[in-house]
Amino acid sequence: MSKKIYITTAIPYVNAAPHIGFALEVVQADALARFYRALDYDVYFASGSDENSLKNVQAAEAEKIPTQKLVEKNAKLFENLAPALNITWDVFNRTSLAHHFAGAQKLWKLCKKEDIYKKKYRGLYCVGCEAFYTKNEIANGKCPDGHENIEEIEEENYFFGLSNYQKHLERLISSDELKIVPNTRKNEVLAFIEQGLEDFSISRSVSRARGWGVPVPGDPEQVMYVWFDALTTYLTALGFPAKQDLYKKYWLENPNRLHVIGKGIIRFHAVYWPAMLASAGLPLPTEEFVHGYITVDGQKISKSLGNTVDPFDLVEKYGVEAVRFYLLREIPAWGDGDFSISRFRDLYNGELANGLGNLTARVARLASDTNLSLPPKKNFTFKKVVSDNLKNFRFDHALVGLWEEISTLNKKINEDKPWELEGVALKKSITPIAQEIREIAFNLGPFLPQTSQKILDQFTGKISAEKPLFPRI
Ligand SMILES: [Zn+2]
Repeated sequence: MSKKIYITTAIPYVNAAPHIGFALEVVQADALARFYRALDYDVYFASGSDENSLKNVQAAEAEKIPTQKLVEKNAKLFENLAPALNITWDVFNRTSLAHHFAGAQKLWKLCKKEDIYKKKYRGLYCVGCEAFYTKNEIANGKCPDGHENIEEIEEENYFFGLSNYQKHLERLISSDELKIVPNTRKNEVLAFIEQGLEDFSISRSVSRARGWGVPVPGDPEQVMYVWFDALTTYLTALGFPAKQDLYKKYWLENPNRLHVIGKGIIRFHAVYWPAMLASAGLPLPTEEFVHGYITVDGQKISKSLGNTVDPFDLVEKYGVEAVRFYLLREIPAWGDGDFSISRFRDLYNGELANGLGNLTARVARLASDTNLSLPPKKNFTFKKVVSDNLKNFRFDHALVGLWEEISTLNKKINEDKPWELEGVALKKSITPIAQEIREIAFNLGPFLPQTSQKILDQFTGKISAEKPLFPRI
């Protein structure tokens, strides 16, 4: 194995149970991990939970339980996404654990002395976003994300000298040395940088953080701003700083360091994080893929609207493959998408039951009638429509392309009418189609791993008719 890639998801707040938006991100990252493994890359895939946020403290207060209890309970729910959605991450890194604290403190200490300084600060703080806003950004007492409890705060905090990195970041991103996909997001980040970067606060008083968070090295009065510590997960997931093996292998000595993130946190990942790493003298991520948001029936997901979609319920009702298919095929990978049950059922019946399921069942039946047997095959390759699109994170385009081939095959069978043939003629007509189904099955591997394996098994050796892959709903 010569090539390597490190793939990460962002780490969500665990103040509530996971929703469909995070399911999208983990399924996308998992498809990439499976794709690169099939290409013989040495892959390390990390996820985790962001547990040091003030939001967790507030959620715990509301539930009247200790914060540690709340984050443990909820982190478990996020960790359970792996068995539910058949996700193959190698590690789920929780940021309230000791090794992560050590990593965040190490990164702090590695930053250049002149980049971290103390300053009295007065600002409008949104707890919902864990971010400061200017007066202009707050309208009618609400932050740009619509949160209401904006507090005016004055305290002495540590600041990070982000302004020192303006030119550096501009060059890195415009040259694609730090590549941001899609291009619209890259331009958004560049526009933000060109407006001028301001130093940002990277600590909070212990009292305002209610004692929750990573202590600032050498200052018992301050804990780290949650983003400073949370971003360090990408290093501590590899064992940084105590354990060097994985960290060396996948961060220091690996040219492919990929973050998969949502559009709402691009500023933290494409501006703050690379600047922090540059200050610490560490390698930066090489690529960031930014997905959009999911609405439900055209409306923003919100607890107050009661329209949250529980990924676990969906899997229980329709099966993991159908859920992965919807997320990867229906949500535009480069933009925003929508979830609706009626669309879910239409896609399931149209593309899985009728398209792929029907093709496989018809051909298996005919092949079994004529005792067709395909010798085992080892060296499958990805079709161009899959490899080109997955390298560009266009999961939806890859699947649309595969389904065009499926419908072409279904059409060909309708025209050839192999069921009117017998013996050698039937075998001759059906063999190339059976072989092509097996090629498609291999190509489905990153997206629908169970279905892929089922079809590969069914179409290797003597082919037999099996139960339908996707019974109609
Ligand atoms: Zn807010």
